[in-house]
Amino acid sequence: MAAGRGAPRMRPLLWPIFLAVCGVSSAAPGRFWHISDLHLDPNYTVSQDPREVCPSAGSQLVHNAGPWGDYLCDSPWALINASIYAMKEIEPEPDFILWTGDDTPHVPDEKLGEAAVLEIVGRLTSLIREVFPDTKVYAAMGNHDFHPKSQFPAKSNSIYHQVAELWRPWLRNESVALFKEGAFYSETLPGASSAHRIVVLNTNLYYSNNRLTADIADPSQQFQWLDAVLTNASQAGEKVYIIGHIPPGFFEKTRDKAWFRSGFNKEYLKAVRKHHRVIAGQFFGHQHTDSFRMFYDDAGAPISVMFLAPGVTPWKTTLVGVVNGANNPGIRLFEYDRATLSLQDMMTYFMNLSQANAQNNPRWELEYRLTEAYGVPDASVRSMQEVATGIASDQDKLQRYYDYNSVSYDTTPCGETCRTEFLCAMQEVDFDAYSICLRSMGARPRIEVLLALLAMLLGLQALLAP
Ligand SMILES: [Zn+2]
Ligand SMILES: [Zn+2]
Repeated sequence: MAAGRGAPRMRPLLWPIFLAVCGVSSAAPGRFWHISDLHLDPNYTVSQDPREVCPSAGSQLVHNAGPWGDYLCDSPWALINASIYAMKEIEPEPDFILWTGDDTPHVPDEKLGEAAVLEIVGRLTSLIREVFPDTKVYAAMGNHDFHPKSQFPAKSNSIYHQVAELWRPWLRNESVALFKEGAFYSETLPGASSAHRIVVLNTNLYYSNNRLTADIADPSQQFQWLDAVLTNASQAGEKVYIIGHIPPGFFEKTRDKAWFRSGFNKEYLKAVRKHHRVIAGQFFGHQHTDSFRMFYDDAGAPISVMFLAPGVTPWKTTLVGVVNGANNPGIRLFEYDRATLSLQDMMTYFMNLSQANAQNNPRWELEYRLTEAYGVPDASVRSMQEVATGIASDQDKLQRYYDYNSVSYDTTPCGETCRTEFLCAMQEVDFDAYSICLRSMGARPRIEVLLALLAMLLGLQALLAP
């Protein structure tokens, strides 16, 4: 900030005090990183034998594997290392880091076990601490950070205990204690010029694959706790960022694929609708895709946005109904107003994996800056509604959103089926509203889903799903 000629002179050190007193936010925005789904495959090897490259490829053959990873595999250590050091190079002093889980490879439980899972969580924790020794990290567990995977209990257990100890350097004592009970916690944020808050949720409790919580109305009383935290935040005049691993709503790369059980999805939506005035942002992962979800009130007005970070792992999902579901490794930086937590911009950086392997050069570059890509002033709810409307009405913007979704890995045209699924997932988190959206867009049954159903009926599933 430069004072104009003739302007009263003020010693630079006094400026922050002056601005704080006047309630004016400083011109320079705060910045924080959001990373997700690193999925280390510790056994990745650059082998000429296509069966020997990585266990995470299952029975698929991996030809011409490169040193920085492969689209059929989870991340080699070299890729994870490169991604954390890229963060350090791009923004070495973020106010904090959000890390939304999934550290272990996509392999059967028998190939991992509790000790191996904890060892991997520990390795990634150490790396992040080593590269960012003085930065607060808010970490959420992913469904792959437990053994057996996705089976998160609604009570204290040895894995919550051990992970809480691994993350103790980032946590207050009361957060460690709470984490040991349910793997969730809340703290005030550093960097913000007035008291604001982060809420880290354990949404693995709501995952439809979690058999342990299927019959519990409010596992670990997390919803009750969330309601209390947000009510208190509102009374204290705080704004809140909510982070977690598994998001509510639907996966845009297929049809009718929700992650939460129905009752939990409703409950989450209810919390957002009740408390949207204090929620300044929601940051989740799990899908490995770059996308976002709009939340609306009963009258249809936009009230909140959830940003889903792309994965660092390029691993091509084997989920039925998804065509070519790999991605380039992505990491994400947000700019925000420290006084209000309002989101100003979002930059996604990526490694073009095939290029990195071909040139043996792990180059990270800016993929896009939200405000430039979509021509909006910031990343507020209002602007994101404008982005959503643009994507729904302009084929070029839809294609742009589609290309970014896989971090510029799959840039094939997004046709009618793709459009329907992307738009309904982006706009409708509620199960009924999503179904209505599909119908209103005249969605035709997907050929992949029909084939998968047919194969299942004929007992051929093993042939289709590796
Ligand atoms: Zn994942
Ligand atoms: Zn996950």
